[in-house]
Amino acid sequence: MESAPLSLKFVIVGGSVAGLTSGYILRRAGHEVVILEKSDGKTKAGGSLRCPPNMTRILNEFPGMEALLRSQGTQCSGYGFTRADTLERIGFMKFHDEIMTELRAHFLVVQYDDLYSHLTSLCSGAGAVIKYESRVVDIKAAGGSTTVVLEDGSALSPDIVVAADGHNSIVRTIVAKDAEEDLESTHAVAGINISVPTEVIEQDPDLKSLCNYTELSIWMGSGSSVVGTLDKNAELFNFSLCCPESLGICESDWDEIRAKKRPLPFDLSGYDTRLQKLINMGSTCYPTVHQLHVQHEAVGLDGTVVLVGDAAHSILIHGSHNSAMAIEDAATLGRLFSRISTRNQIPMLLNAYQEIRHPRTKLMQEEEYQALSELSMQFGPVSEARDAALRPSLTMSFEDFQKAGSDNALVQIWEQYLVHFAYNAAEEVDNWWSMWGNSVVESKLAEDIKAVTIELETTVL
Ligand SMILES: Cc1cc2nc3c(=O)[nH]c(=O)nc-3n(C[C@H](O)[C@H](O)[C@H](O)COP(=O)(O)OP(=O)(O)OC[C@H]3O[C@@H](n4cnc5c(N)ncnc54)[C@H](O)[C@@H]3O)c2cc1C
Repeated sequence: MESAPLSLKFVIVGGSVAGLTSGYILRRAGHEVVILEKSDGKTKAGGSLRCPPNMTRILNEFPGMEALLRSQGTQCSGYGFTRADTLERIGFMKFHDEIMTELRAHFLVVQYDDLYSHLTSLCSGAGAVIKYESRVVDIKAAGGSTTVVLEDGSALSPDIVVAADGHNSIVRTIVAKDAEEDLESTHAVAGINISVPTEVIEQDPDLKSLCNYTELSIWMGSGSSVVGTLDKNAELFNFSLCCPESLGICESDWDEIRAKKRPLPFDLSGYDTRLQKLINMGSTCYPTVHQLHVQHEAVGLDGTVVLVGDAAHSILIHGSHNSAMAIEDAATLGRLFSRISTRNQIPMLLNAYQEIRHPRTKLMQEEEYQALSELSMQFGPVSEARDAALRPSLTMSFEDFQKAGSDNALVQIWEQYLVHFAYNAAEEVDNWWSMWGNSVVESKLAEDIKAVTIELETTVL
């Protein structure tokens, strides 16, 4: 990516996946970047993130990332579906080699800490400034300038504020208040992260028979579901138990939930006893609840603040696309601002960001919730029909998929995955640019002409 002809000052609130990726790409495009992070940046988080091909493809372009993902990430061979009550294997949506080769990226599971530390060193290496223990408490916009206020009373005045401060974003609250927009809450989702050391699993034949380390294992219960993935680097099998209801768990931040092991708020009595045993072996138990909401505007405060990642949308955590959407947001914003040449292009580029990202993240939010609801549906005739539709996937080869018509239920499920996996954030920006780039260039011409006119007028006078 080339350096932008005009360098702007960006302040990024939040230094996690969205903030660091935005910081790195914007800095690489020649902008000044300061990242304000409320934590000390040293505490290990311990969880793992799913990294679908649309995310891996972006990350692979960063120096050293492909090697990191290859060595520390777990490559998933597909989604394996099992009944939580009987442990009957219901289906397997294989990530066929032919498709993954075409996609040029794999579906991986990576440790949050590995991704975080690599993104941090990329940012610092590129010259972005990361300030830890810097909690932002307010943003003010007046007379065309914006001020970011920190807890210690200090302030910064950038050209653009990027809000990457997560699900409980303070910046989003300020933007919504300014726009007099009420956040529309939709569903609440309770989830729990549990980790069991693979060493413990290996010693117990009951547990060993349950765990497939190469796939994304899904156990479908009545009212809840469990997804298990191997965290190769930490030698842990990680589970997330999810339920499309709040279960009375209070909403909290990632740093607050990591404090200690707590009792399970889920009723597992309907699960096979071996699965219950596995879940109860968990060395950690971090409950979270996400109140999903609909956020219409990703740009606010007189067009000086832009929201990215979980601050911009509530894609299901413990899902397959929460981090992917954050990385795509960052890649989109960074690529748009890699071409800026005059200040009057800022509104157009922020508008482009909104236009490109809003439909994509809105659809993803709906589909991820829908997928959780389908995996967690109460047992009965509808769940039986779901299982019957999935069963043929156990024996279907790639050729069978190719031959099956587009009205085949499994082909339709696959196509839905593929549309998301194939999404290319850079191409979306380039398409936007080929359609609207002329107006952006014209705005530069208009600004140049205005400058020349003012200069001539001054000379004549
Ligand atoms: C420590 C940690 C561990 C996580 N582990 C998992 C996991 O195991 N599985 C999973 O699915 N997702 C996990 N996530 C969430 C996942 O990172 C996000 O859902 C996704 O990657 C989008 O990232 P984000 O950067 O938008 O939000 P987040 O990752 O939530 O990051 C928000 C950042 O903003 C900072 N911040 C918040 N408020 C302020 C403020 N006022 N001033 C300055 N900084 C502020 C936070 O400290 C945090 O670093 C974790 C997040 C964190 C922070």
